[in-house]
Amino acid sequence: MALINYALVGSPIEHSPSPAMHNAAFETLKMNAEYRLRSADEEAAELVLAEIRHGKWSGINITTPLKTVFAPMVQLQGHAVRANAVNTLWRYGSEVHGALTDVDGVMLPLQEVGFEEKKSALILGAGGAARAAAIALDNLGTKIHVAARNPHKANEFLNLMEVQNPGTTGALKDKEFLQKLIASVGCVIQATPIGLNGESHQLPWEAAKPNLVAFDMIYKPVETPFLKGAADAGCTTIAGWKMLLAQGAASLKIWTGREAPVDAMENALKAELGIK
Ligand code: NAP
Repeated sequence: MALINYALVGSPIEHSPSPAMHNAAFETLKMNAEYRLRSADEEAAELVLAEIRHGKWSGINITTPLKTVFAPMVQLQGHAVRANAVNTLWRYGSEVHGALTDVDGVMLPLQEVGFEEKKSALILGAGGAARAAAIALDNLGTKIHVAARNPHKANEFLNLMEVQNPGTTGALKDKEFLQKLIASVGCVIQATPIGLNGESHQLPWEAAKPNLVAFDMIYKPVETPFLKGAADAGCTTIAGWKMLLAQGAASLKIWTGREAPVDAMENALKAELGIK
Protein backbone atom coordinates (compact mmCIF):
# COMPACT_ATOMS: atom_id res chain seq x y z
CA MET A 1 0.00 0.00 0.00
CA ALA A 2 1.38 3.42 -0.95
CA LEU A 3 2.38 5.80 1.81
CA ILE A 4 -0.18 8.58 2.45
CA ASN A 5 1.44 11.91 3.17
CA TYR A 6 0.26 14.77 5.34
CA ALA A 7 2.12 17.93 6.29
CA LEU A 8 2.29 21.06 8.37
CA VAL A 9 2.83 24.10 6.14
CA GLY A 10 4.07 27.48 7.36
CA SER A 11 7.17 29.12 8.77
CA PRO A 12 8.83 28.78 11.23
CA ILE A 13 7.72 25.19 11.90
CA GLU A 14 10.97 23.35 12.75
CA HIS A 15 10.06 22.83 16.41
CA SER A 16 6.42 21.88 15.93
CA PRO A 17 5.14 18.93 17.99
CA SER A 18 2.42 18.25 15.35
CA PRO A 19 4.33 15.49 13.47
CA ALA A 20 4.75 13.48 16.69
CA MET A 21 1.05 13.91 17.53
CA HIS A 22 -0.27 12.95 14.09
CA ASN A 23 2.21 10.14 13.48
CA ALA A 24 1.13 8.58 16.81
CA ALA A 25 -2.46 8.74 15.54
CA PHE A 26 -1.57 7.06 12.22
CA GLU A 27 0.28 4.30 14.06
CA THR A 28 -2.69 3.68 16.36
CA LEU A 29 -5.08 3.63 13.39
CA LYS A 30 -2.65 1.29 11.58
CA MET A 31 -2.49 3.65 8.62
CA ASN A 32 0.47 3.64 6.27
CA ALA A 33 0.74 7.41 6.58
CA GLU A 34 3.28 10.02 7.56
CA TYR A 35 2.94 13.63 8.76
CA ARG A 36 5.86 15.83 7.79
CA LEU A 37 7.01 19.42 7.89
CA ARG A 38 6.71 21.42 4.67
CA SER A 39 8.22 24.82 5.27
CA ALA A 40 6.66 27.54 3.10
CA ASP A 41 6.27 31.29 2.97
CA GLU A 42 3.61 33.31 1.16
CA GLU A 43 5.37 32.99 -2.23
CA ALA A 44 5.19 29.19 -2.00
CA ALA A 45 1.41 29.05 -1.41
CA GLU A 46 0.52 28.35 -5.08
CA LEU A 47 3.11 25.60 -5.23
CA VAL A 48 1.76 23.96 -2.06
CA LEU A 49 -1.75 24.09 -3.53
CA ALA A 50 -0.49 22.38 -6.70
CA GLU A 51 1.14 19.72 -4.51
CA ILE A 52 -2.25 18.93 -2.92
CA ARG A 53 -4.01 18.92 -6.29
CA HIS A 54 -1.46 16.49 -7.70
CA GLY A 55 -1.75 14.15 -4.72
CA LYS A 56 1.58 14.80 -3.02
CA TRP A 57 -0.33 15.55 0.20
CA SER A 58 -3.63 13.95 1.24
CA GLY A 59 -4.11 16.71 3.76
CA ILE A 60 -2.23 19.61 5.23
CA ASN A 61 -2.36 21.85 8.25
CA ILE A 62 -1.66 25.51 7.69
CA THR A 63 0.01 27.57 10.37
CA THR A 64 1.44 31.06 10.74
CA PRO A 65 1.74 33.17 8.58
CA LEU A 66 -0.40 31.44 5.95
CA LYS A 67 -3.86 30.86 7.47
CA THR A 68 -5.39 33.90 5.78
CA VAL A 69 -3.19 33.58 2.67
CA PHE A 70 -4.74 30.23 1.69
CA ALA A 71 -8.31 31.26 2.53
CA PRO A 72 -9.13 32.98 -0.80
CA MET A 73 -7.42 30.16 -2.74
CA VAL A 74 -9.65 27.27 -1.57
CA GLN A 75 -13.31 26.32 -1.04
CA LEU A 76 -14.01 27.39 2.52
CA GLN A 77 -16.06 25.08 4.72
CA GLY A 78 -17.78 25.65 8.09
CA HIS A 79 -16.12 28.12 10.46
CA ALA A 80 -13.46 28.95 7.87
CA VAL A 81 -16.07 30.94 5.94
CA ARG A 82 -16.71 33.26 8.86
CA ALA A 83 -13.09 33.53 9.92
CA ASN A 84 -11.77 33.82 6.36
CA ALA A 85 -8.86 31.70 7.58
CA VAL A 86 -7.93 28.02 7.27
CA ASN A 87 -5.74 25.58 9.18
CA THR A 88 -6.82 22.33 7.45
CA LEU A 89 -6.80 21.60 3.71
CA TRP A 90 -7.75 18.52 1.72
CA ARG A 91 -8.55 17.61 -1.86
CA TYR A 92 -12.15 16.99 -2.84
CA GLY A 93 -12.48 15.99 -6.48
CA SER A 94 -10.63 18.64 -8.41
CA GLU A 95 -11.04 21.25 -5.66
CA VAL A 96 -9.11 21.98 -2.51
CA HIS A 97 -11.30 22.54 0.55
CA GLY A 98 -10.33 24.39 3.72
CA ALA A 99 -11.60 24.29 7.31
CA LEU A 100 -10.64 26.07 10.51
CA THR A 101 -10.41 23.44 13.24
CA ASP A 102 -8.86 26.02 15.60
CA VAL A 103 -12.50 26.73 16.54
CA ASP A 104 -12.80 23.11 17.80
CA GLY A 105 -9.46 23.72 19.49
CA VAL A 106 -11.02 26.48 21.58
CA MET A 107 -14.49 25.00 22.02
CA LEU A 108 -13.57 21.52 23.29
CA PRO A 109 -11.24 22.56 26.14
CA LEU A 110 -13.81 25.15 27.26
CA GLN A 111 -16.49 22.46 27.33
CA GLU A 112 -14.15 20.10 29.21
CA VAL A 113 -13.81 22.57 32.10
CA GLY A 114 -17.56 23.26 32.04
CA PHE A 115 -17.40 26.85 30.82
CA GLU A 116 -21.04 27.80 30.69
CA GLU A 117 -23.00 29.40 27.92
CA LYS A 118 -24.07 32.99 28.24
CA LYS A 119 -21.16 34.03 30.46
CA SER A 120 -18.89 36.81 29.28
CA ALA A 121 -15.31 36.50 28.09
CA LEU A 122 -12.31 38.68 27.34
CA ILE A 123 -10.09 37.92 24.35
CA LEU A 124 -6.54 39.31 24.46
CA GLY A 125 -5.41 39.97 20.89
CA ALA A 126 -7.25 40.59 17.65
CA GLY A 127 -5.33 38.45 15.16
CA GLY A 128 -6.07 35.17 13.41
CA ALA A 129 -6.27 32.90 16.43
CA ALA A 130 -8.51 35.42 18.20
CA ARG A 131 -11.00 34.88 15.34
CA ALA A 132 -11.27 31.20 16.26
CA ALA A 133 -11.82 32.19 19.90
CA ALA A 134 -14.54 34.69 18.92
CA ILE A 135 -16.39 32.11 16.81
CA ALA A 136 -16.24 29.46 19.55
CA LEU A 137 -17.44 31.91 22.21
CA ASP A 138 -20.11 33.36 19.93
CA ASN A 139 -21.46 29.85 19.31
CA LEU A 140 -21.85 29.55 23.09
CA GLY A 141 -23.77 32.85 23.18
CA THR A 142 -21.02 34.51 25.23
CA LYS A 143 -20.67 38.29 25.51
CA ILE A 144 -17.25 39.03 24.01
CA HIS A 145 -14.88 41.81 25.11
CA VAL A 146 -11.56 42.38 23.34
CA ALA A 147 -8.28 43.98 24.41
CA ALA A 148 -5.51 44.56 21.85
CA ARG A 149 -2.29 46.54 21.89
CA ASN A 150 -3.97 48.86 19.40
CA PRO A 151 -7.53 49.49 20.71
CA HIS A 152 -8.74 50.43 17.20
CA LYS A 153 -7.88 46.93 16.06
CA ALA A 154 -9.90 45.48 18.94
CA ASN A 155 -12.88 47.52 17.84
CA GLU A 156 -12.45 46.61 14.17
CA PHE A 157 -12.15 42.97 15.18
CA LEU A 158 -15.48 42.90 17.02
CA ASN A 159 -17.18 44.60 14.05
CA LEU A 160 -15.56 42.23 11.56
CA MET A 161 -16.57 39.12 13.49
CA GLU A 162 -20.18 40.35 13.82
CA VAL A 163 -20.63 38.60 17.16
CA GLN A 164 -24.17 38.33 18.52
CA ASN A 165 -23.30 39.85 21.85
CA PRO A 166 -20.47 42.39 21.50
CA GLY A 167 -18.92 43.74 24.67
CA THR A 168 -16.36 46.50 25.17
CA THR A 169 -12.97 46.97 23.57
CA GLY A 170 -9.80 48.57 24.89
CA ALA A 171 -6.03 48.65 25.04
CA LEU A 172 -3.92 45.85 26.50
CA LYS A 173 -1.99 48.42 28.50
CA ASP A 174 -5.14 50.04 29.96
CA LYS A 175 -4.92 48.65 33.51
CA GLU A 176 -8.25 50.10 34.63
CA PHE A 177 -10.08 48.53 31.68
CA LEU A 178 -8.47 45.15 32.33
CA GLN A 179 -9.10 45.31 36.07
CA LYS A 180 -12.81 45.91 35.51
CA LEU A 181 -13.13 43.09 33.00
CA ILE A 182 -11.10 40.53 34.89
CA ALA A 183 -13.33 41.16 37.89
CA SER A 184 -16.46 40.42 35.85
CA VAL A 185 -15.82 37.93 33.02
CA GLY A 186 -16.06 34.15 33.23
CA CYS A 187 -13.17 33.52 30.84
CA VAL A 188 -10.02 35.16 29.49
CA ILE A 189 -8.44 33.81 26.30
CA GLN A 190 -4.86 34.84 25.59
CA ALA A 191 -4.37 35.00 21.78
CA THR A 192 -1.16 37.03 21.40
CA PRO A 193 2.49 35.86 21.31
CA ILE A 194 3.06 37.40 24.75
CA GLY A 195 4.47 34.61 26.94
CA LEU A 196 6.45 32.79 24.23
CA ASN A 197 9.62 34.20 25.76
CA GLY A 198 8.49 34.64 29.34
CA GLU A 199 6.82 38.03 28.81
CA SER A 200 3.68 38.90 30.75
CA HIS A 201 0.62 41.10 30.24
CA GLN A 202 0.83 41.81 34.02
CA LEU A 203 -2.87 41.10 34.45
CA PRO A 204 -4.56 41.91 37.76
CA TRP A 205 -5.47 38.29 38.54
CA GLU A 206 -6.19 39.18 42.16
CA ALA A 207 -9.43 40.76 40.89
CA ALA A 208 -10.61 37.51 39.23
CA LYS A 209 -13.64 35.56 40.34
CA PRO A 210 -12.61 32.12 41.68
CA ASN A 211 -14.31 30.22 38.83
CA LEU A 212 -12.72 32.28 36.04
CA VAL A 213 -11.32 30.16 33.20
CA ALA A 214 -7.92 31.36 31.93
CA PHE A 215 -7.02 29.92 28.51
CA ASP A 216 -3.60 30.55 26.96
CA MET A 217 -3.19 29.58 23.30
CA ILE A 218 0.60 29.42 23.66
CA TYR A 219 1.75 25.79 24.10
CA LYS A 220 5.51 26.31 24.34
CA PRO A 221 6.40 27.03 27.12
CA VAL A 222 3.72 24.82 28.64
CA GLU A 223 3.36 27.06 31.67
CA THR A 224 3.32 30.73 30.68
CA PRO A 225 3.31 33.70 33.10
CA PHE A 226 -0.37 34.15 32.09
CA LEU A 227 -1.26 30.62 33.24
CA LYS A 228 0.89 30.85 36.36
CA GLY A 229 -0.70 34.16 37.42
CA ALA A 230 -4.18 32.74 36.88
CA ALA A 231 -3.43 29.46 38.69
CA ASP A 232 -1.90 31.31 41.66
CA ALA A 233 -5.12 33.33 41.93
CA GLY A 234 -7.16 30.11 42.02
CA CYS A 235 -8.55 30.27 38.47
CA THR A 236 -9.17 27.23 36.29
CA THR A 237 -6.50 27.12 33.58
CA ILE A 238 -6.40 25.72 30.05
CA ALA A 239 -2.95 25.33 28.52
CA GLY A 240 -2.32 25.85 24.81
CA TRP A 241 -1.44 22.18 24.18
CA LYS A 242 -5.10 21.30 24.76
CA MET A 243 -6.05 23.55 21.85
CA LEU A 244 -3.32 22.01 19.70
CA LEU A 245 -4.63 18.54 20.53
CA ALA A 246 -8.29 19.36 19.87
CA GLN A 247 -7.62 21.14 16.58
CA GLY A 248 -5.34 18.27 15.49
CA ALA A 249 -7.96 15.63 16.34
CA ALA A 250 -10.58 17.57 14.35
CA SER A 251 -8.23 17.86 11.34
CA LEU A 252 -7.49 14.13 11.44
CA LYS A 253 -11.20 13.33 11.45
CA ILE A 254 -11.74 15.51 8.37
CA TRP A 255 -8.86 13.83 6.50
CA THR A 256 -9.61 10.22 7.40
CA GLY A 257 -13.33 10.16 8.26
CA ARG A 258 -12.34 8.25 11.41
CA GLU A 259 -12.52 9.19 15.08
CA ALA A 260 -9.10 10.47 16.17
CA PRO A 261 -7.26 8.31 18.74
CA VAL A 262 -7.08 11.23 21.14
CA ASP A 263 -5.30 9.39 23.96
CA ALA A 264 -2.41 8.33 21.71
CA MET A 265 -2.20 11.85 20.29
CA GLU A 266 -2.22 13.38 23.77
CA ASN A 267 0.52 11.05 25.03
CA ALA A 268 2.73 11.84 22.03
CA LEU A 269 2.13 15.57 22.38
CA LYS A 270 2.91 15.53 26.09
CA ALA A 271 6.10 13.54 25.50
CA GLU A 272 7.15 16.02 22.83
CA LEU A 273 6.47 19.02 25.09
CA GLY A 274 8.00 17.39 28.16
CA ILE A 275 4.71 17.35 30.10
CA LYS A 276 4.68 14.73 32.91
P1 NAP B 1 -1.46 36.85 14.64
O1 NAP B 1 -2.54 36.66 13.63
O2 NAP B 1 -0.14 37.37 14.21
O3 NAP B 1 -2.07 37.80 15.79
C1 NAP B 1 -1.33 38.10 16.93
C2 NAP B 1 -2.11 39.07 17.80
O4 NAP B 1 -1.25 39.39 18.90
C3 NAP B 1 -2.44 40.41 17.12
O5 NAP B 1 -3.58 40.95 17.73
C4 NAP B 1 -1.20 41.25 17.46
O6 NAP B 1 -1.43 42.65 17.45
C5 NAP B 1 -0.94 40.78 18.88
N1 NAP B 1 0.44 41.00 19.27
C6 NAP B 1 1.56 40.65 18.59
N2 NAP B 1 2.64 41.02 19.28
C7 NAP B 1 2.20 41.63 20.42
C8 NAP B 1 2.84 42.26 21.51
N3 NAP B 1 4.17 42.32 21.61
N4 NAP B 1 2.07 42.78 22.49
C9 NAP B 1 0.73 42.73 22.41
N5 NAP B 1 0.04 42.17 21.38
C10 NAP B 1 0.79 41.63 20.41
O7 NAP B 1 -1.14 35.47 15.39
P2 NAP B 1 -2.18 34.31 15.73
O8 NAP B 1 -2.20 33.31 14.64
O9 NAP B 1 -3.44 34.96 16.14
O10 NAP B 1 -1.47 33.60 16.97
C11 NAP B 1 -1.48 34.17 18.26
C12 NAP B 1 -0.86 33.19 19.26
O11 NAP B 1 -1.69 32.03 19.38
C13 NAP B 1 0.51 32.69 18.82
O12 NAP B 1 1.37 32.65 19.93
C14 NAP B 1 0.24 31.29 18.31
O13 NAP B 1 1.35 30.43 18.47
C15 NAP B 1 -0.92 30.86 19.21
N6 NAP B 1 -1.76 29.81 18.57
C16 NAP B 1 -1.86 28.62 19.21
C17 NAP B 1 -2.64 27.61 18.67
C18 NAP B 1 -2.76 26.30 19.38
O14 NAP B 1 -3.21 25.33 18.76
N7 NAP B 1 -2.44 26.22 20.66
C19 NAP B 1 -3.33 27.84 17.47
C20 NAP B 1 -3.20 29.08 16.86
C21 NAP B 1 -2.41 30.06 17.42
P3 NAP B 1 -1.18 43.54 16.14
O15 NAP B 1 -2.34 43.26 15.23
O16 NAP B 1 -1.15 44.91 16.65
O17 NAP B 1 0.12 43.08 15.54
